[in-house]
Amino acid sequence: MDAGREGDVPSGTNDPKGEYVMVVGVAMTSELKGFYQLPLEERLKIVKEFAALSEKEVEILRGRGLELDQAQRMIENVIGTFELPFGVAVNFLINGRDYLIPMVIEEPSVVAAASNAAKSARPSGGFFTSSTDPVMIGQIQVVNVINPFVARLQLLEKKKEIIDVANAQDPVLVKFGGGCRDMEVRVLENGMVITHLLVDCRDAMGANAVNTMVEAVAPLIEEITGGRVYLRILSNLAKYRLARARVKYLREVIGEETVDGIVEAYEFARADPFRAATHNKGIMNGVSAVVLATGNDTRAVEAGAHAYASISGRYTSLTHWEKDETGNLVGSIEMPMAVGLVGGATKSHPVAQVAVKILQVKTAQELGEVIAAVGLAQNCAALRALATVGIQKGHMKLHAKNIAQMAGATGDLIEKVASQMVKEGKVRSDRAEEILKELKGK
Ligand code: NAD
Repeated sequence: MDAGREGDVPSGTNDPKGEYVMVVGVAMTSELKGFYQLPLEERLKIVKEFAALSEKEVEILRGRGLELDQAQRMIENVIGTFELPFGVAVNFLINGRDYLIPMVIEEPSVVAAASNAAKSARPSGGFFTSSTDPVMIGQIQVVNVINPFVARLQLLEKKKEIIDVANAQDPVLVKFGGGCRDMEVRVLENGMVITHLLVDCRDAMGANAVNTMVEAVAPLIEEITGGRVYLRILSNLAKYRLARARVKYLREVIGEETVDGIVEAYEFARADPFRAATHNKGIMNGVSAVVLATGNDTRAVEAGAHAYASISGRYTSLTHWEKDETGNLVGSIEMPMAVGLVGGATKSHPVAQVAVKILQVKTAQELGEVIAAVGLAQNCAALRALATVGIQKGHMKLHAKNIAQMAGATGDLIEKVASQMVKEGKVRSDRAEEILKELKGK
């Protein structure tokens, strides 16, 4: 068993019995060679040490996550809970710090692909990130305005008054350094006057905070414009709350052909919305898995991502892949990232709390930047596979296990049926049933 870790800061050793031994107090690397080959309990032990998890937190990860009474407090008409696999992607080096990335997802290969892409990025220093302040937009729709353009200016004249009313709604947010910072007013082609409150949400995703503010200022906005307010709601096109990440893949690490292949694949996505949709879906495989693991709102981030991908008027790639002057591959991503560490399910879901502890992020901005790096890595992994061997090869092993299970295989037979199908290159339910019959007949 290979439980050793590679990297410049050794944090553990293998004892003669092959057990992983922690060196207490030593900074740890996320570069965990052979992590995927370890039994689950060994993996859990390493993550426990990496993130200093308590026994209780480990128990939560073992599947005693969300209790029914907690679930009942989260949504309506609860009759149960729904489990999904919780994995960690390894090898991530972001701004010089090692991260283990919690990912909750039902799709095979995503965690492995992210880990691989993160590993190939390490020789050039990993990922580098930045972000804007965590500013969300709240919209107030006014109709029946006689002079919309004059009303726009009248609203802007009263900006301070409107912002003060908004901020009076959330003294806690203001205390933490957030609050309504600015306001903009747009006149739509149909004459509607749309006010945007720009709210710094600090460590909250902010939907509730923003919605409370836009509802509170609506009467004042009606009074100023003489129109009628209808909708008062957050916009998920969070174009002022952006997370960014960049990475360099050295030509000698991934090969010249792969560099060219990835650039060509990117150019396809850039030019064609049909391809861009799938290209961005691949990015969201990584993004949504971390968003979900940390108890954040996957739909909010997804809506923001896809709307931002069309902000130029034509839907396109969220990432860019270019070749630098020495033939290395350089990639970048910039996307809205409405995620929080307080509010919503982030605090109420016990597994989400453990995920945040594994990440060891201190602010929502840091979380957003890490997620952007994961999205970029995920995109690289998908393009690399597509531009070289195709994605099915990597997918097949786990997919074959699913097919074997669907065909009725249990216990050891799952692995046997799956391996046989992969060997034959026939991963299909009819073949799984045949192999199962043959094996059972033996
Ligand atoms: P929330 O209202 O539960 O928590 C945010 C509040 O926490 C802030 O208003 C502030 O008062 C307080 N707070 C304490 N410490 C803070 C800190 N360090 N930084 C910032 N605030 C701090 O949650 P929320 O984040 O306002 O709303 C998120 C929820 O809203 C999610 O569950 C989301 O699914 C849901 N939602 C989303 C949409 C949408 O995306 N369109 C719409 C409605 C609701």
